[in-house]
Amino acid sequence: MPSLTAKDSVSFEAPQPRAVEEAPQRPLNPCELEIDLFCKGMRIDPTCDLSQDARLITRTRAGLGSGLEIIIPGRLKDVWVNVPVEEPFARQSCYRLIYKESAYWVLDDRQGFCYKARIPPEPAWYKRSTSLGTPMHKVGVLQGTYLGIYISNSCGFWHHSPSLNCKFCTTGLNVGVNEEAEKELEDVVEVARAAKAESGITFVHFNSGYHTHSDLDIAAPFVKAVKSRVGALVGVQVIPTLDFWKYDRLMDLGADHFSFCYEFHNPDYFRKLCPGKEKLVGQQTFFRALEYTSKKMGKGACSGEIIAGVEPIEDTMKAIDYITGLGAFPTVCIFRPTKGSDMEDWPSPRYEEMRAVFAHLYEACRKNNIPIDVTPGIEVSLVVQPGDTRYLAPDSWESRMYEMKTKCLKQLTRPYFWWKMRPGYIDASEILSPPQ
Ligand code: SF4
Repeated sequence: MPSLTAKDSVSFEAPQPRAVEEAPQRPLNPCELEIDLFCKGMRIDPTCDLSQDARLITRTRAGLGSGLEIIIPGRLKDVWVNVPVEEPFARQSCYRLIYKESAYWVLDDRQGFCYKARIPPEPAWYKRSTSLGTPMHKVGVLQGTYLGIYISNSCGFWHHSPSLNCKFCTTGLNVGVNEEAEKELEDVVEVARAAKAESGITFVHFNSGYHTHSDLDIAAPFVKAVKSRVGALVGVQVIPTLDFWKYDRLMDLGADHFSFCYEFHNPDYFRKLCPGKEKLVGQQTFFRALEYTSKKMGKGACSGEIIAGVEPIEDTMKAIDYITGLGAFPTVCIFRPTKGSDMEDWPSPRYEEMRAVFAHLYEACRKNNIPIDVTPGIEVSLVVQPGDTRYLAPDSWESRMYEMKTKCLKQLTRPYFWWKMRPGYIDASEILSPPQ
């Protein structure tokens, strides 16, 4: 673990490089391989022709960075991973992507284990422009199987002096460079329509950085437009507020999901590594907003998002217990020392610790009856999804019961989600005015 442990002594020093880990003695299951790929990254063998076969890997977003999207096929489900390939640690990885016998494989050079992989192709609409002339891939991108849209120009934390950006983030360096800084409503609608028609997306996820407490207001017209004119499940991930009526308003406009990136459960890590969130928002605001929306929207409709591999794993596990205790999804990103971020020299996390975190996550979801893998067609490549951790379930009757319950729920909720994904009319006058 990094050396940041004692309260009030959190420094912003890159910890020592981690010791080399022992190679596993058996092949990993798809979730274990996903975790290890997030921790170690992967090299690309010259046998691969990714310029023909893969999606663009030129983008970096927040703390997750750019990576190569791959799919690891599996018995319970196929697992989507955005594998680090550009960061220096990935160049030292024991994993190598090779192309052999008309297929892609992830080869572990340590003991020769070879895992089949698929590479999702770049969608045809990435190469087209909208009617306003904006390249579609600059409006939104597929992240796994959903459409991710960064709705407004870069995060205000980057414009403070001194800068208050989160230390793992590169958004201020990338939004507006790799994509359009200001999104036009019509562009967003066109891209969402293309992604739905051609890539079969069911979920559009809007996120943004800090915009002086107007974040939910900025999101409102986009939510309304996609719900009413495209028809999809819609998620919003913006800086939270204690003006809870703004969440009610977005729910009225059709928002199906809210997520809250509070990053670190340990308040010292939150304070030191997310100075803007600490100074201008406060960790408690994240908690209160998550509690409010989770209670209002029901089990599995909201997420608390954290980064694993920086704060002590006991704190990460506490976060998972807190989030699942509210009935929300624990969205846990494995820390990626993204190129250009303030933390680029930090070591990436250790596999054994991350496996323990995700085994704990499975148990916490089971104990709290969180409905994992129920929503249709949503595979997230940037994190280890709670549904992926089914591969880590202990062989017990409790796990089998949970698996059976979630499968039944998936069938029973199909008509509900079909109804939620139809385009529908929403009154424009409902937007942006506070309740009387
Ligand atoms: S809030 Fe933090 S993580 Fe999000 S864009 Fe701003 S600096 Fe980056």
